[in-house]
Amino acid sequence: MIRGSCLCSAIKFTILCEPKAVTACHCRMCQKHHGASFAVFGSVPKTQLSIDEGKGLLASYNSSNAIYRQFCQKCGSSLFWFGSEEYSDWISIALSSLDDTYTVERIKHIHKASKVCWLAKLGRDL
Ligand SMILES: [Zn+2]
Ligand SMILES: [Zn+2]
Repeated sequence: MIRGSCLCSAIKFTILCEPKAVTACHCRMCQKHHGASFAVFGSVPKTQLSIDEGKGLLASYNSSNAIYRQFCQKCGSSLFWFGSEEYSDWISIALSSLDDTYTVERIKHIHKASKVCWLAKLGRDL
């Protein structure tokens, strides 16, 4: 069980398995929605995600086709997205919203064509 929450802690959730298929997405929509250079999401079957508190504060934005991005309407934290045709029973979770430790086997970078021009400078002082 891995717990997660938004910035203001109004929304609290639990995932019942480790996040799978971890992806760092560099598309413009993820950059804008996260306000970050890229967004890292891991996916779980929808049945493995439990919203424990603040479900009513979860807002949805239809960003493209059948894709919905969900965020806390109080603090703006980007939390989930779902609606992929291929994986309609799955939901993706913004890994930075998780509060417990967990294992990430590997990270796949996608939509690299739109990566930010300063990305190479990011890791330099880590
Ligand atoms: Zn919040
Ligand atoms: Zn993206």
